Amino acid sequence: MIQGSISQVSGFVGNFDVQIHTPTDRYDEMFGFIIAAQPANQQSKTNAFSLTSSDKIYSLSEFKRFLDSGDRLSENNGTWRHIAFFFDLKGSSDISQFETLLSILDRLEIFHQVQPYIFTRDLKVASAGLEARYRYHRQRGVVFFKFDGPDPQIVQNERGCVIEFVEPLLGEKMELTPDWIVLDEILGPPIDLDPLLKMIPSAPAFAPYLQPESTRFNGAETPKAGVYAVGPARGVFDNESLKADIDAVMVSVLKTLPELSRITEREAAFVDKTKCAFCLTCIRLCPHGAIGFHSRPEVDPLSCKMCGICILECPMGAIQTRSNNADVLEVDSNLFSNGAKTGESGRIKLLVCSRSGLQAAGKINQTLLSDVEICALPCAGSLDPNSLLKFFLDGADGIIVAGCFKGNCASIYGSTLAEERVTQTSKTLKQAGIDPERLEFIYLAGNTPGRIVEAIARLKSRTDN
Ligand code: SF4
Ligand code: SF4
Repeated sequence: MIQGSISQVSGFVGNFDVQIHTPTDRYDEMFGFIIAAQPANQQSKTNAFSLTSSDKIYSLSEFKRFLDSGDRLSENNGTWRHIAFFFDLKGSSDISQFETLLSILDRLEIFHQVQPYIFTRDLKVASAGLEARYRYHRQRGVVFFKFDGPDPQIVQNERGCVIEFVEPLLGEKMELTPDWIVLDEILGPPIDLDPLLKMIPSAPAFAPYLQPESTRFNGAETPKAGVYAVGPARGVFDNESLKADIDAVMVSVLKTLPELSRITEREAAFVDKTKCAFCLTCIRLCPHGAIGFHSRPEVDPLSCKMCGICILECPMGAIQTRSNNADVLEVDSNLFSNGAKTGESGRIKLLVCSRSGLQAAGKINQTLLSDVEICALPCAGSLDPNSLLKFFLDGADGIIVAGCFKGNCASIYGSTLAEERVTQTSKTLKQAGIDPERLEFIYLAGNTPGRIVEAIARLKSRTDN
């Protein structure tokens, strides 16, 4: 294990070149994958309670270390020791903090004459087994005070701390002078992922690094293929979520490994060096960080998701795919179990993202699609505005372009790019005297076919009049 800081990262999934600096040395290491998996940054709530540090006040993790360091609690000389835990007071607490608190209560079971008290607002039990563990400790004598009204106050003096509070059930003022007070902590990601990703020259510059809400990413994935962030490194802390993150990364890594040896067979964009003008637009725009610069722009086949965005945005037309099918995909008729035919010339063109719109179109009754021609795009971001104009010149009554909902686009901003191109093309249509409302962009998902049906109805009501 090397303990140091990362100073430079280059390369692609399967082949990351990482430079690590220690105070005395520099290491150049190759890694297939990069997983940010640091423990959470724990910040004490001492200030929030206006307390000064003392050997009577601990944070949860400090108290855990205190228990780990020896068994001072067993030196009780026949007297009871009282420990007051503060949880979810002075700011909301994380579920993993409650797990830590319960594991401390588990540890305290071995000591005699130790009485724990939990002062709390809201216990976080929404994780497997926590509710049962909480009930267990309550039944064995741990005292829980749950506050709806004013917070309990901790008064610190030279002899220790006094807790002043109104007992929530009895409504009576009470005081407790515990031997120790243990405060939960504010947790945060240990590092900002931005510096790590920004260190990789080919990492997407404009993309948010994590897509926790997107069904297209597994949550721990970043848009840079082969770079992951798990557990606290991305902001989730309870053990169940951490295990789910690790499983998700393992699935992704195991899926990628066999592909590493078959890169040349993989469909991917490539740059024609005879046409490239070195403007670097493609490197800046690739949402998957798949294009690097090694004396000229080069696409990493394994990282390329074939969204077609670079192909559309390259001002020199220098990027292609080996099968040249990134513009419009052949529509798989198996998707259309309702028997709808595609590829026939229709009054209305429906240009759909193959990841969402194609599935949605496959759920629509054939009669509603009788005069609709469906064209599938690898990603809405590969929509070519020229093809829209050409469709109108060829006699289309109207065009609907459908892209994934924002936040759920596999190419992060592919559908946003498509919407912008549709807006621009609508302006061109208006200048050319063509009703711009004959062109519409809609956001959808594979399970929202109704959005297409509504758009077709809107378009027909305009064109039929
Ligand atoms: S966008 Fe096209 S011209 Fe510009 S660097 Fe990339 S391949 Fe070359
Ligand atoms: S096709 Fe998409 S993923 Fe592939 S290099 Fe171009 S922009 Fe990147």
